[in-house]
Amino acid sequence: MTISYDYDVIVIGAGHAGVEAACAAARLGARTALLTTNCDTVGQMSCNPAIGGVGKAQLVREVDALGGVMGRAIDATGIQFRVLNRSKGPAMHGPRAQADKKLYQMEVKRLVEETPNLDLRQEAVEELIVEPSTVAGVGRSAWRITGVRVRGDAAYRAAAVVLTTGTFLQAVMHTGEAQVAGGRAGEGTTAGVSRSLAGLGLRLDRFKTGTPCRLAGTTIDYAQFEEQPGDVDPQPFSFLTDSVTQEQLVCWITRTTPEIHDLIRANLHRAPMFTGQIGSRGPRYCPSIEDKVVRFSERDSHQLFLEPEGRHTREIYVNGISTSLPRDVQDAMIRLVPGLEQARIMRYGYAVEYDYCPPDQLAASLESKAVAGLFFAGQVNGTTGYEEAAAQGLVAGANAALLLAGRGPLVLDRDQAYIGVLIDDLVTRGVDEPYRMFTSRAEHRLALRHDNADRRLTPIAAGLGLAEPHRVARLEVKLAEIEGVRATLAAHRVRGTTLADMLKRPEFSWQDAVAALPTLGVVSREVAAQVETDIRYAGYLALDRDRLERQRRMQERLIPEGFDYTTVRHLRAEAREQLARIRPRTFGQAGRVSGITPADLALVVLALESRTS
Ligand SMILES: Cc1cc2nc3c(=O)[nH]c(=O)nc-3n(C[C@H](O)[C@H](O)[C@H](O)COP(=O)(O)OP(=O)(O)OC[C@H]3O[C@@H](n4cnc5c(N)ncnc54)[C@H](O)[C@@H]3O)c2cc1C
Repeated sequence: MTISYDYDVIVIGAGHAGVEAACAAARLGARTALLTTNCDTVGQMSCNPAIGGVGKAQLVREVDALGGVMGRAIDATGIQFRVLNRSKGPAMHGPRAQADKKLYQMEVKRLVEETPNLDLRQEAVEELIVEPSTVAGVGRSAWRITGVRVRGDAAYRAAAVVLTTGTFLQAVMHTGEAQVAGGRAGEGTTAGVSRSLAGLGLRLDRFKTGTPCRLAGTTIDYAQFEEQPGDVDPQPFSFLTDSVTQEQLVCWITRTTPEIHDLIRANLHRAPMFTGQIGSRGPRYCPSIEDKVVRFSERDSHQLFLEPEGRHTREIYVNGISTSLPRDVQDAMIRLVPGLEQARIMRYGYAVEYDYCPPDQLAASLESKAVAGLFFAGQVNGTTGYEEAAAQGLVAGANAALLLAGRGPLVLDRDQAYIGVLIDDLVTRGVDEPYRMFTSRAEHRLALRHDNADRRLTPIAAGLGLAEPHRVARLEVKLAEIEGVRATLAAHRVRGTTLADMLKRPEFSWQDAVAALPTLGVVSREVAAQVETDIRYAGYLALDRDRLERQRRMQERLIPEGFDYTTVRHLRAEAREQLARIRPRTFGQAGRVSGITPADLALVVLALESRTS
């Protein structure tokens, strides 16, 4: 007899997306089950033991501002904190932290365990259970989710399910000619969920990603490397963390050599990426070493970072040498790195191919258009990265709970959050390679800084009931302090100019303001930085708002019904065909049609303007 359990929301998979999804649904009061194949791999970092970086840090701070888990977990377990791009303006800063991989997992698991309304259960989901949707009409889903069946003759019933199965759907790992079924080294694969999705008429496609080898740290000659220490003033990720106090560890920097590149070239006939053994596309911005050697053949060296996997292990992650070359080539390659002549590999690098579900099949809430109540988040949507996964997970989990409560979805706009950019890109453009976040994807990036994520998003989270009361109270105190400091700066003058105006000058720093008005010395570092950045950015933000307003007005301009694209001179045949097929109503919509470039759009604008002039 099948045993059945009842919940409001089920989340499948306790990776970075699943954890945020489950915690968000539970925070909104939904009785939530987080089902995962192994409770010992909750929040596991499949690849790089690090969180954040340029573009990604903004996502982590936004997830945190919405009450998420990731920022708190990395603050508690980071072993090295650095702000990347420090020489650029605050909008381009990318806080990044190396994690103690195991401690990070344990911390995430603890936070999950301590979340009210949430049950973590070790279960392998084999099938989605649906029934025909009774809501008729154009645009309505054909199916409605009612639960999942798990291995061992049991079922879970719920009206909303969030699927976050990562790299595990019909996954195959490659190391040289060897192929093993599994979504991550030492783990299995999931076939039933793919069958269910295909059976419901959902399109599936394949992507690939890869990881480098890990070394036994006791076999490394560190004296030959450049040391990379952490920042002296480590910045926390979570708005709830006062300061990072744990001891920081160093990482090391070294480089590949021309001999290594020769060795790789000589073995390309055994590289699954080049023999046709791997047919799917991987993340362009995280290429394997064999890919780098071929694509950038003019370079005879690439940087490598040696990063500890934790405080209580000597295992070392070799960042920059992701590969699926055969084992013997990996051994030889590593020993050609100065300082690694005696190094022993503990885990070989590999590539993994897996099913993902193209995200243009989702609404902006991350709910499937075909199956009501079924939400998707994370790598299964064709993204790559822990931060991208967490961001989607939080939104999908919140929306699962909001749907059941009969409330409108949490949909963030592109000018509100990087999360809004991420999800809008996914659902309107789809993906043709694993999607990762960059600051360049966000047209409002001057306003969407990591440092102001709480001011942008915690009030929204508070309105929904997603943010914890102490987070909201903390933000209120901070906002009041910011207002107070602003008023003081506007009131105090130096040689006839207010301190607020003085701070607009690049040569006048916060320290100069404190020297002029010593009572400012008590202002916290966080508040001082916020006020200073607000003042310095005010002019740019005003210009940016004007530019975007002009752009918005342009995007809203209508394209006449039945416009004949064959009359647009120099327009590419492919663009002509696409536009004639989709028939966008506005320039904005035309710009979002897949395959349409800004240059195509400019030609259409020109053609229409010459018609009306
Ligand atoms: C080899 C490898 C290399 C990678 N390289 C990079 C990289 O270079 N850069 C980068 O940014 N990202 C990389 N990633 C991707 C990164 O790991 C993912 O982006 C991130 O982990 C995605 O989070 P997720 O929550 O979507 O999925 P995951 O972290 O994969 O979590 C999925 C979870 O679902 C569970 N699960 C799966 N099927 C079932 C089922 N049927 N029932 C119950 N539970 C299930 C799994 O056990 C797991 O806990 C790599 C991943 C791998 C495997």
